[in-house]
Amino acid sequence: MRVDKIIFATGNAGKMKEIRMIMADLGVEVQSMKEADLHTDIIEDGETFEENAMIKAQAIAQELSVRGDQAVVLADDSGLEIDYLNKEPGVYSARYMGEDTSYTVKNANLIRRLDGVPDEKRTARFVCAIAAVFPDGRTFETRATIEGRIGYEEKGGNGFGYDPIFYLPEYGMYSAELAPEEKNRISHRGKALEEMKKVLSREL
Ligand code: IMP
Repeated sequence: MRVDKIIFATGNAGKMKEIRMIMADLGVEVQSMKEADLHTDIIEDGETFEENAMIKAQAIAQELSVRGDQAVVLADDSGLEIDYLNKEPGVYSARYMGEDTSYTVKNANLIRRLDGVPDEKRTARFVCAIAAVFPDGRTFETRATIEGRIGYEEKGGNGFGYDPIFYLPEYGMYSAELAPEEKNRISHRGKALEEMKKVLSREL
């Protein structure tokens, strides 16, 4: 049976916009959790981005199957790995210094922790893992990264989170200085979604 609905397990409007743009030509309906009337609170206690994405997707798929709904569930997990800090904040990126702490404070703290560290040791990457769970129980995963360096001050007014301290040497600018469409094209999430689109067009 062909599945004609995808539910993306996020409450984030920006992510929904991005996934709708990317998946548009698959010819399937893409719904947010809210649109699908799902309100599950999920505890992300995995140790890797892949584990957390799969935990989220499986939890929603479970809820859907109880309801008798046929949809593919997608979930993502992402974060920033700084090599000099042993890949911190990693899976704790959103929770780093507390969920309610502003990114101005989080970013200033990370810059301070790299005080005196030279350019070549300030390497970092954004990582995104996407998990898919099909109604018949099959699962798939994609992962993508974007490599950069931690800068010395915040720059740029676009993006969110750690974008203002994430410098992209290839582009000669900070992630928060990229236009949104440009960021979607090259970002960890954009690339992982494109990979997932290939999986879906093959498997749906
Ligand atoms: P989640 O995948 O929604 O749980 O987000 C994880 C966290 O990683 C976010 O709250 C941000 O702190 C960080 N993060 C993930 N992707 C990006 C990005 O593209 N720019 C800036 N920060 C990001």
